[in-house]
Amino acid sequence: MFNSFHALADRQLSGATLSRDDAFAILESSDEQLLDLVAAAARLRRAHFGNTVKVNYLVNLKSGLCPEDCTYCSQRLGSAAQIMKYTWLKPEEALAQAGSGIAAGASRICLVASGKGPTDRDVDRVATMVEGLKEEHPGVEVCACLGILKEGQAERLKACGADAYNHNLNTSEAMYGDICTTHDFADRIRTVEHAKSAGLSPCSGLIVGMGEGNGDLVDAVFALRDLASDSIPVNFLMPFDGTPLEGTWLLTPAHCIRILALVRFACPSAELRMAGGREMHLRTLQPLALHIANSLFLGDYLTSEGQPGQADLDMIADAGFTVLGRRDPSPETAGPGALPAIRMRGAGTAVAPNA
Ligand code: SF4
Repeated sequence: MFNSFHALADRQLSGATLSRDDAFAILESSDEQLLDLVAAAARLRRAHFGNTVKVNYLVNLKSGLCPEDCTYCSQRLGSAAQIMKYTWLKPEEALAQAGSGIAAGASRICLVASGKGPTDRDVDRVATMVEGLKEEHPGVEVCACLGILKEGQAERLKACGADAYNHNLNTSEAMYGDICTTHDFADRIRTVEHAKSAGLSPCSGLIVGMGEGNGDLVDAVFALRDLASDSIPVNFLMPFDGTPLEGTWLLTPAHCIRILALVRFACPSAELRMAGGREMHLRTLQPLALHIANSLFLGDYLTSEGQPGQADLDMIADAGFTVLGRRDPSPETAGPGALPAIRMRGAGTAVAPNA
């Protein structure tokens, strides 16, 4: 066991492997220890990523209409969530959407489609989009997220120029049957391994806040470590009305910070992304989380709106970070703040105060 989080950071910086005891100590740490935990995790973050933040941008190529039953998902079979449902975007529509994210500073585009997995025709369709993106924006990375891959499909994606493949483990193997019955944890592992063996950079992460215990979190994070996932998105459950996890609010901002710290200590050199649900769960601790995570999704998610893209860029600049790959990050994000609004409520008025 370590004496302090800084002693643990020293060990991780010298290449140690995080133990289960250490992982539990991070998750069970107190609110009083939170800043010490962040400061220690920040040393690992800065050692590997300096003060850069990687900005990723999601394009939902096909929304809803999924035959799978993942309990956390607004696009699942039988979901009554009032989300947009549409079938495949045309390549030019996908490119236009991606272009908006790139113009705002994204250095990775994530092309996502709902469903258990793609047909070969779907993969060809996505390959056309990847080729178009690479032609227009050669420096931008493209990650595909299309579900469980069949023989040859990862190779096809690699051949068309895709850089990465996302397939999240989501939670522990022990808990997987509680969140999905139409595919299993082993299917997920197989697809990440398949993508890796085809030369795609593996992106695989978590959804937290689904009722998992600390043991599940440790198991899931250690499984991601075993997979050597290059990037690890941590999603915080957005409990959509009309899904089985509707009304599930189990996270506090401080616990979200501890979970991010666990991932950072377990996988110090992985790109750690604070992903969906960060606004509603990290809330005012989002800028603090940037000292642990080095990556985020800009703007909107697959079926829900995020905070305004400019607010993301302002947050990055205000916290002293720069957008990875952006030549001149400060002037365009460091615009004037909002002007003081003249108070017209509370003391001296008959209008209710702001409290
Ligand atoms: S997570 Fe993916 S596979 Fe599961 S229901 Fe949602 S879209 Fe379908």
